[in-house]
Amino acid sequence: MFAFDNSYQRLPERFFRAVKPATVRAPRLIRFNTELASELGLDFSDIGEARLAEIFSGNDLPEGAASLAMAYAGHQFGNFVPQLGDGRAILIGEVVDRNGVRRDIQLKGAGATPFSRNGDGRAALGPVLREYIVSEAMHALGIPTTRALAAVLTGEPVVRETLLPGAVLTRVAASHIRIGTFQFFAVRGDADGLRMLADHVIARHYPEISTDDDNRYLALLNAVSARQAELVARWLSVGFIHGVMNTDNMAVSGETIDFGPCAFLDEYDPRKVFSSIDQRGRYAYANQPGIAQWNLARFAEALLPLFSAREDESIEAANAALVDFGRVFQSHWIDLFRRKIGIAGEVEGDVELVNGLLSLMHEGEADFTLTFRALGKVAGGADDEVLLTQFKERWGVADWLERWRKRHGGRLTPAERQASMEAVNPAVIPRNHRIEEVIAAGIAGDFEPFEQMHAALQRPYAEDPARADYALPPMPAEKVMRTFC
Ligand code: AMP
Ligand code: MG
Ligand code: MG
Repeated sequence: MFAFDNSYQRLPERFFRAVKPATVRAPRLIRFNTELASELGLDFSDIGEARLAEIFSGNDLPEGAASLAMAYAGHQFGNFVPQLGDGRAILIGEVVDRNGVRRDIQLKGAGATPFSRNGDGRAALGPVLREYIVSEAMHALGIPTTRALAAVLTGEPVVRETLLPGAVLTRVAASHIRIGTFQFFAVRGDADGLRMLADHVIARHYPEISTDDDNRYLALLNAVSARQAELVARWLSVGFIHGVMNTDNMAVSGETIDFGPCAFLDEYDPRKVFSSIDQRGRYAYANQPGIAQWNLARFAEALLPLFSAREDESIEAANAALVDFGRVFQSHWIDLFRRKIGIAGEVEGDVELVNGLLSLMHEGEADFTLTFRALGKVAGGADDEVLLTQFKERWGVADWLERWRKRHGGRLTPAERQASMEAVNPAVIPRNHRIEEVIAAGIAGDFEPFEQMHAALQRPYAEDPARADYALPPMPAEKVMRTFC
């Protein structure tokens, strides 16, 4: 079933705590991701749903499983907490997938750990369904992310504002090592632990960095920074707001991790915040690149003791890496948005052209997803009205279209331009109001809306009349104002 090879468990004991999942009363499978299981090289073909539920609730740990909670620290909303750690997630092991990539398998919501503090170690059904849908949608959009292998009801209630059904999500990640994992060792002055962690991460995620390079830890900072720059640019390109970009929620692999109060934009607003716990808007849509850079500065501070150069030179090198982040992010961002508006090559004024559209979208409360999709149709020959109708305030949009047409050049046919734009402008995204519907139905015991929404998001760039209602923005009364972890 599983061919576990648990490299993290072989690290020294202070990296984690051994812990067993809680036994739950009546596990019942909600969904098992057969396609991901086969990518992982796992064969569950002769295993029934009841047994899958036992395994992925944590009741029946497979042979060779690790079963541990990882230690980490982190900055939460800018405040440093020296001891966090997996409070409700248990790593059951690692497998090497069909492409030779090592992947973590983790049960989220499987019971209390030594790091639970005041938490119960459990997950409510709602966040489990949200993470399943959104993480799999991110994957379908082509954005690096943790995946969902299984969702299981525990048959036990969890206490939140009300009693809710409990559930366990099985999460698959390139690894669950975070910036906060490095901070855990740095704050303890544990240079050996820090070096072992860094070497583990280099071998696992950045094998291109040579182990006998004196500057390998600086190279690690630059490599993590480059992946984060691309990741955040991609988030912005699909209107994604992570919601809790604490340093413990930023994976050094460059995958999107921790789908708590995350949400996608409906109408475009750069200052948009959904998360109920983000009262000051620290993690607003347009703040995300700056926050990623701030988090990488914390990563640089943690790594500094490992740098081989003199202290002043090390600080200079770390600062240069952080400046580079800005450059790399900006270059991914403009590349992606050039493709979104269907212009090729690089011309001075492209950034202004893109920002011009975005500010009209902001003023006109235009739907982020539908506006770019409509612009593709206009590029393909549809009437300008298809685009204009997305804007409540149309002033300036016709002028913008004129500038945009002048910038085109004649290389592509209209149909080709539309196709190239539609390859980066999704038709469907996991909209909040639909997720809330899925959750409400799931709490009432009906998982059909969950199945349907999941299916609708598998080919997000294709237009499919059969799932047209998933493309629609919320009616005013359906609008979700706040999301919760
Ligand atoms: P998050 O906001 O999801 O990144 O979680 C921050 C920290 O709180 C992590 O250390 C989690 O493991 C912990 N945590 C979140 N929810 C719970 C819970 N229900 N029980 C125990 N720990 C939790
Ligand atoms: Mg977290
Ligand atoms: Mg979370």
